[in-house]
Amino acid sequence: MSLIKSWVSSANQTDTLFPLNNLPYGVFSIGGDDARCGVAIGDKILDIRSLEKAGTIAPAQSAVFAEPSWNAFMALGRVAWAEFRTQLTALLEQGSSAQNQVEPHLVNAADAQMHMPIKVAEYTDFYAGKHHATNVGTMFRGAENALPPNWLHIPIGYNGRASSVVVSGTDIRRPWGQLKGPNDDVPRFAPSARFDIELEMGAIVGTTSDIPITVQEAYDNIFGYVLLNDWSARDIQAWEYQPLGPFQAKSTATTISPWIVTAAALEPFRTDTPKREFELLEHLKDCGPMLYDIELDVTLTPKGGTPSTIAKTNYSQMYYSAAQQLAHHTTAGSRMNVGDLLGSGTISGPKKSEHGSLLEMSWGGKEPFTLETGEERSFVNDGDTLALNGAARGDGYTIGFGSCVGTLLPALDNPYAR
Ligand code: CA
Repeated sequence: MSLIKSWVSSANQTDTLFPLNNLPYGVFSIGGDDARCGVAIGDKILDIRSLEKAGTIAPAQSAVFAEPSWNAFMALGRVAWAEFRTQLTALLEQGSSAQNQVEPHLVNAADAQMHMPIKVAEYTDFYAGKHHATNVGTMFRGAENALPPNWLHIPIGYNGRASSVVVSGTDIRRPWGQLKGPNDDVPRFAPSARFDIELEMGAIVGTTSDIPITVQEAYDNIFGYVLLNDWSARDIQAWEYQPLGPFQAKSTATTISPWIVTAAALEPFRTDTPKREFELLEHLKDCGPMLYDIELDVTLTPKGGTPSTIAKTNYSQMYYSAAQQLAHHTTAGSRMNVGDLLGSGTISGPKKSEHGSLLEMSWGGKEPFTLETGEERSFVNDGDTLALNGAARGDGYTIGFGSCVGTLLPALDNPYAR
């Protein structure tokens, strides 16, 4: 597919992340006014609430944009999603007769503050990147036990906390927690000294359904994708994780990108999951390409410093698609809801430069890496800003998510000190 030209000239520039082919969904406000739904187009945001009030767009049901989230719209279902996208494309396409009606509802993206695009119903995080799981398993349990025996048969995950999910730009506070290193006799309560990131994609469930569902049905239920940084306290994690998995290590924050890129916009970029060692059981079998070719990178900017690109990888490296994860999630009886967020798991490639966490980049802190500024890092320092970026590259256009950014603030004083 090639670029669909818009009368919004900035949407036709080759370096924009928001051409008419994209039309990602977010929630924004200007100068402290009401947060409301918007669609990114070039360097503008189309104010969907005001467009709806003006009667220029007609969703399948009225007032779905009354709330500052896309949940009510998502609940309308797949047919309504497609109709709305067709409508928006027609309104913004070059030569559209609606230009004069639509133009007053555009605002400058540079003036906007972005908010959470959805109300997250529940949050599950998976562990579906084979290179990442192998690397972490090697560090935690040794090379011979790197991949747990179940790993090649089911997408492993844990139930995270919806309340931990924050939008890009939100500052992150270094957490306190219970730590016990290999050389410590007793555990202690202290700020995490091994605070990390995880480069992931988040899939957003757009419809409720009967359960269980097939992989194809799961694919159809996914509304769109965001970039996702699963901030992780490795020292808290190493002490607490056995036998039930991560808990407080993953409860500080999970940052998502401001824009949801719809599955419809990503359709031209579908790719297959990698070759498998074992055939999957029937309910998890691949039934078409359900991953996406999305280039990903991570930058680290020390306080007052310049950014260093510390990793480059691709979403197509995942072992399980979000559709397989969602299908698996429905097999035991719990219902999935509109606004459920599924983290992919850390996306690492096979090379050192493709590692999606600092834990892997510094090999557990044993091999610190050097930034452009000459400083060394093993884990995230106070004042560091971490940014995830993603791009699906088409013929003369790029689909982006907006940067997924967070700055780490120093730990507060001991909250339990007497
Ligand atoms: Ca994770």
